[in-house]
This record gives sequence, structure tokens and C-alpha cells, in this order.
Amino acid sequence: MDFSLSTDDRAIQSLAHDFVRREIVPVAARHDLLASFPHAVVAKARELGLMNLGLPPEYGGCGAGALTVAAVAEELAWGCAGIAACIMLNDMVALPLLLAGTSDQQAKYFDLLRGGVAAYALTEPDAGSDAAAIGTLATRTARGYRLTGRKTWISHAPEAGFFVVFAKTDPEAGSHGISAFLVDRAFAGVSVGTPLPKMGQRASSAAELTLSDVEVPAEALLGAEGEGFTLAMNVFDRSRSMVAAFGVGVAQRALDEAVAYADTRVAFGRPIKSHEGIGFKLAEIGMRTEAARLLTQKAAWLADAGRSSTLAAAYAKTFAADTAMWAAVEAVQVFGGHGYSQDYPVEKLMRDAKLLQIYEGTNEIQRVVMARELTGGRAWQNR
Ligand SMILES: Cc1cc2nc3c(=O)[nH]c(=O)nc-3n(C[C@H](O)[C@H](O)[C@H](O)COP(=O)(O)OP(=O)(O)OC[C@H]3O[C@@H](n4cnc5c(N)ncnc54)[C@H](O)[C@@H]3O)c2cc1C
Repeated sequence: MDFSLSTDDRAIQSLAHDFVRREIVPVAARHDLLASFPHAVVAKARELGLMNLGLPPEYGGCGAGALTVAAVAEELAWGCAGIAACIMLNDMVALPLLLAGTSDQQAKYFDLLRGGVAAYALTEPDAGSDAAAIGTLATRTARGYRLTGRKTWISHAPEAGFFVVFAKTDPEAGSHGISAFLVDRAFAGVSVGTPLPKMGQRASSAAELTLSDVEVPAEALLGAEGEGFTLAMNVFDRSRSMVAAFGVGVAQRALDEAVAYADTRVAFGRPIKSHEGIGFKLAEIGMRTEAARLLTQKAAWLADAGRSSTLAAAYAKTFAADTAMWAAVEAVQVFGGHGYSQDYPVEKLMRDAKLLQIYEGTNEIQRVVMARELTGGRAWQNR
């Protein structure tokens, strides 16, 4: 295994590192407070080539693999996990197009990704973890399909130009009856709710998406009929290393903030870093963050190598999200009373980290995946 990045990829990582300090850190608290989508930051990231990294070069990307995407995602999330999501979600939406899109679909929708943002619409009010239980229907018509249903918690729905929507084409066939569709926001019958109020990652929006008898052409079908669930799971195998990288970024920020504070805060006549109880906390955050980074890199590397990464991606997403949450709580503790104040950056890390344990498949569902892989005789493929 070799997790090192090429010279070009290291240059992108370094660009992201500098971008975060210059463009994200100064505005992160304001976007968090106002729950405002960071249009200006996203525009600058797009201009610099930090968005749509996975798109082929002819569509304005750099054909980046999961390892490079993870390296950039970690840098961006160090600055703000919510803003990182605003910049990186397009890369998740590009995945089903890369895996199953026709050349016409890729040409049209990669172009839309280049100029805007898009959303991935699987979750419904009555079906989240149990994705096979979605109720959105796609019925055949003379021209294509008619979509009816309601999606919820769809990140960037308020800003999205199009949606990858999962719907049942054969309601009797369970997960084998689900298909994926490319749905333009401009299609009649598509409506988006107001942004949902949320605890963390508040720069990134999420809203309901309602499909009221939306007529889509046959060319809107993404991949084969009935293969939408498999497509969604294949996307998660690749995108979970990106979410894991968000966790690593948040945990690293918690460590960096805690180290800096422990260096200057004095208690009992000396910097608190020299009290063993604090020093051990820093050591533990550093150790777990590095372990999360290695799991993330391994999951990404397996995906890039075209090998099975289901188990590795579940390990990485779960461990990194749990590490981010735990590290943020520990950082708040290191800051003492100041840690509880919105004048310091660590309470936001706690709120941002919590979401990492919930979206992209909850950490409970990841453990279901791990148990299934470990007992299904396929675990050796992930080593
Ligand atoms: C801010 C935000 C952004 C999101 N963005 C998107 C998006 O862009 N696109 C999208 O499609 N979805 C998105 N989601 C939805 C997210 O993926 C779901 O919330 C998540 O999958 C959990 O589904 P649920 O909320 O319905 O919880 P439920 O499925 O109702 O689960 C409730 C609890 O039960 C646990 N549970 C359920 N089943 C099991 C089981 N078998 N074993 C053990 N525990 C179990 C869960 O882990 C959870 O703790 C987003 C959610 C949020 C909050």
C-alpha cells in the first residue's frame, strides 16, 4: 500500500491548505451563526479548481481519485466542515454519473456541476437508514417516467441545479426495484422547501424536495432500471472516505486548537500542557486522529485500486466520525469555560462533528455493514 500523493495532487492539497486559512477560517463563524450558504467561498474554490476534483479533465476536473479527494476534504474540513461540504458535495454527485452515466448524460450534467451545485436525493421522511423502503415512485409513461414522492434532508437542495433521485420503478421488488434518475430543478412539479434548521455544519443547507408528478424523459434514467440501490451503495463505498476525511479534518483542528490553548493557558503557575491530565488528552487526540487518517487513506486507496472497499470505508467513516466527535468534546474540555463560549472555535467543532456520525449512513448502520462483511466471508478482500 502506498498512500503518497503525486506531485500534482500534493500541489492541490497545498492549494487547499492555503485557501482554508485565507478564505474559509475568516468567514466560518459568520456562516455558522447566520446559517448562510457561502456562495462567495464556493465561487472562489471553483475558480481555483478545488471543486469537482473527480471530473475528467475535459470537463474541468482533474480526474482525481478518492485519495486526493480525501486529502483535500481533510484540509477544507479543518477550516469548516459545513463549508467543506458545500465545496465537496458535487464530487459525491459526480460519482453515480462516473459509474453509470452515458456519455450524453455526463456531457450535460458534468457541465452543470462545473457551473453550479447539485444534490443527492435518497432519504425520505419515512426511510433513512432503511433505504430500500423508500416510497418515491417512478411509473413508466410514453416518453419516460413520472416521479412522485417526497425526499428530506437533501443537502444543497435549495441551491441545486439538478438532483440524483432514487425512486421505485418496481415497488414489489424491494431493493431490486429501485432506479436512479437525473432530475433537473427546472422540471415541472419539482419543488424545494425552505432550509431546515440544524445544529451544526450550518453553512451547508439541507431541505425537503417534493416531486409532484414530475415528467422526466427516458434519458433521465441513470444506469439500468432496478440497479439504483446497487449504484447508491457503490457510491457510498467511495464517498464514505470523503466523509471520513471531514472527520479527520475536524479532529486535527480540535488537536491544533487544544495544543495552542494548552501552551498559553496557565493554571497553578504553569502552562496547562505541562499538567499530565491535559498532556495525555493531547496525546490521545493526536493518536486517534492519525489512526483515523490511516483508515481513511486505506479506504480511499482500495477504491482507487478498484478493489472492494465496503468494509474499509465503513471502518474509516465510523472511526473518523467518532474520533472527530470525541476529539471535539475533549478540546472543549481543554479550553475549560472558554470551550463553552462561541467566542472560541471548539464548540462549533462539537456541533459540526455530530453530523458526521449521522449522514452518509449512520455509524450504527456502518456497524451493521461491518458485521455483514465480517461474517459474509468477504473481509479478506479489504485487507
Ligand atoms: C444535515 C443532514 C444532511 C443530510 N444530507 C443528505 C443528503 O444530501 N442526501 C440524502 O439522501 N440524505 C441526507 N441526509 C439524511 C441522512 O443520511 C439520514 O438522516 C440518515 O441516513 C439516517 O436516517 P434517518 O434520519 O431516517 O434515521 P433512522 O433511519 O430513522 O434511524 C434512527 C436511529 O436508529 C438507528 N438505526 C436504524 N436502523 C438501525 C439498525 N438496523 N441497527 C441499529 N440502529 C439502527 C439509526 O442509526 C439512528 O440512530 C442528511 C441528514 C442530515 C441530518
